[in-house]
Amino acid sequence: MRKIKKFNFQCPIHKKELIIDFNKNLIKCKNKSCKAKYRIIKTNNKLVPCLIDELNFDTVFNHKFLKPIRIFDKNKSNFFKLADHIKSKINNFLNEKYSPPYKEITINKFKSLIKNGENKCLIIGSGNRNLPNTIFDNRLEILGCDLYPGKQVDFIADAHYLPLKDDSINIIFLQAVLEHVLEPQKVVDECYRVLSKKGIIISEAPFLQGIHENEYDFFRFSPSAHCFLFKKFKLVSYGPLKGAGLSFIWILRGFLSKYIGMKISKIIFFPLMILSNLNVNKNLKANWDYCNSSYVVAIKEVTKSKKYYHKNNLKLYDPKDK
Ligand SMILES: [Zn+2]
Repeated sequence: MRKIKKFNFQCPIHKKELIIDFNKNLIKCKNKSCKAKYRIIKTNNKLVPCLIDELNFDTVFNHKFLKPIRIFDKNKSNFFKLADHIKSKINNFLNEKYSPPYKEITINKFKSLIKNGENKCLIIGSGNRNLPNTIFDNRLEILGCDLYPGKQVDFIADAHYLPLKDDSINIIFLQAVLEHVLEPQKVVDECYRVLSKKGIIISEAPFLQGIHENEYDFFRFSPSAHCFLFKKFKLVSYGPLKGAGLSFIWILRGFLSKYIGMKISKIIFFPLMILSNLNVNKNLKANWDYCNSSYVVAIKEVTKSKKYYHKNNLKLYDPKDK
């Protein structure tokens, strides 16, 4: 049976409650003058509200995203679809073993939140992915959002305008999202708004990676630049996520693609990508300066606004062999 995940959504324009009309497959805002037309999308196993209105929002979202094939996958031949399938199987296997540097800290925080009945976890950029296996807890109520439908997507939204009430989420996971949004600070501020007091946010974003997803890829983040976006929060852990080895393989793969094409290059380098994808030694300067991606874990603390963000940010650069 098709189901829609029940949640207290709000109109991202008027911040008013939304009324879902299953008969007409429409979602209306309680504000009578609201002209936004939100739809309900039928996917394989569920109904997914699409809470973006292209007329009212400045967004890269396009109604073509709602088609079953993602816009940047449309030219793939069957061979490469099969290769992708095998790749995702291997990645899933590796994810089971993957132990992120924020594992301990997040597991402990999840436990204490769950104990207080605060178990709402929002994954932004969920696509087909869930939380990393090693931090997953089945007591969490997971809500996935993305710009297009996917296995783990419960609603479609643009992260610049989250259709969620203030303080309504206890855990947010930004899964390689900030490089794909045009206003990363605005997205992080939206997360701050919807996160509950003492709620936790985890963000992963690339630093030395080539452009991926074509025209939908905009930014890269050093560990300290990544932290700066979270200045309103209390930082609890941050640093390089994937190290210099993986960066090297990315660049080499990109370079060789000039001569043998990206598809062949991806196949050749896949085993090396896996080998260099191992957990990173956070203490090494090489891994800070040449990290493939960085991460931030932060808590929403509602205190007086801090001063001297810029000078404080300098202290965050923290390799032990500098
Ligand atoms: Zn509205």
